[in-house]
Amino acid sequence: MATKEKAKRNVQRKRKPKLMAVINEACTGCAGSPICITECPVDNCMFEVENEHAPAFNLVYVDPLLCIGCKKCISKGPMDTFLEGCPWDAIDMIPIEAYELEYGSLPY
Ligand code: SF4
Ligand code: SF4
Repeated sequence: MATKEKAKRNVQRKRKPKLMAVINEACTGCAGSPICITECPVDNCMFEVENEHAPAFNLVYVDPLLCIGCKKCISKGPMDTFLEGCPWDAIDMIPIEAYELEYGSLPY
């Protein structure tokens, strides 16, 4: 998506997704214009937070209760195609079981 803002999903997710997006240490904050947030179809799912290691820059955070695991925020598509998401490989798509082992069970 480039010029026009898409209508974003704003209803609460009903089930846990199979995959969860997690921002890794490669996130640069995209100089205040995060491509990932533009691509995410869910309202308020991704948002900027202060980078405590570099206060002049922001990082992106994914709300685990809103992410639907759609992979639109990443740039690796099926069969090695290239999507319009994060160009810096800064988002890992993690199976929900591994996510909950690492971060705790998601409340539903
Ligand atoms: S996987 Fe989909 S819903 Fe989750 S953060 Fe990425 S674009 Fe948003
Ligand atoms: S996750 Fe990627 S696209 Fe999003 S702000 Fe960080 S570097 Fe930019």
